[in-house]
Amino acid sequence: MAIRIDGKKVSAQVRARVAHEVAALQEKGIVPGLAVIIVGDDPASRVYVNNKKKACAEVGIYSEEFALPADTTQLQLMALVHQLNARKDISGILCQLPLPAHLDEKQVIEAIAPEKDVDAFHPSNVGRIMIGDYQFLPCTPAGVMELLHSAGISPEGKECVVIGRSNIVGKPMAMLLLHENGTVTVCHSRTKDLREVCRRADILVAAVGKAKFVTEDMVKPGAAVIDVGMNRDEAGKLCGDVDFDAVEPVAGAITPVPGGVGPMTIAMLMQNTLMAAKLQNGLSD
Ligand code: NAP
Repeated sequence: MAIRIDGKKVSAQVRARVAHEVAALQEKGIVPGLAVIIVGDDPASRVYVNNKKKACAEVGIYSEEFALPADTTQLQLMALVHQLNARKDISGILCQLPLPAHLDEKQVIEAIAPEKDVDAFHPSNVGRIMIGDYQFLPCTPAGVMELLHSAGISPEGKECVVIGRSNIVGKPMAMLLLHENGTVTVCHSRTKDLREVCRRADILVAAVGKAKFVTEDMVKPGAAVIDVGMNRDEAGKLCGDVDFDAVEPVAGAITPVPGGVGPMTIAMLMQNTLMAAKLQNGLSD
């Protein structure tokens, strides 16, 4: 039976570390600040934004929400980003995605000052990750790495398979595993013999967006299985990309959903906001 990697516990440790550092910064008169932009009334985005604000309050980070109506124009949104770029009390800017269809996400992401881009979606931060000279890491892949470290699992010399090649999860995930000397394969919807490729993995990361997609026959006995997926099953219950009950007896380590990668994403956002505040105040990390 696999070891369950407890994302709640590890994320609490990260948040405690951040809170401790935030308190030390406050003694120097520095308060990290996170601006959270939300456009429209998507219920899932609302939940994510509320969770992020709550996490900020818990670790002592100042947060300010900018809730814009669904018919906000690109010009209005860009003006807000420019204002926030210029504000000294705002260390990090986050624009909750997806934006309503009439808005250009790429333009918004590129308008955020790279030093305030705590999601690490700006092309300059993405490029820095590619060359291994980064400050911010995207929160979800960084959270996965933290979970692996917490369980004493090193990618070094291991076969690592990532299912999914999105810009926010799959691709940066592959880079981080590569930076830690994993032998990385990235799979996607056109991958042939997916089952066979997955069965080679010592570390299997699923970021597909399909409920219970990874079944026990796709997992090498003893492998570490990291489930990034956040889906709803037939009963409307939150579930991952991995068929947990079937895979747990085969895997060596596994993350549950909920309580695995999800809580890590927000903890890493707190860490990035703290880092942004330090860098903007000339305190190296
Ligand atoms: P995405 O942009 O939709 O990407 C999904 C990827 O899965 C694509 O690369 C796609 O391949 C691949 N895929 C789809 N069907 C496949 C198949 N049958 N075989 C192999 N690959 C297949 O999704 P995402 O934004 O990366 O998110 C993935 C999941 O993670 C979602 O459930 C999302 O909700 C969750 N998520 C969780 C967190 C968290 O904090 N826990 C954060 C972000 C995302 P193609 O490129 O060929 O289409």
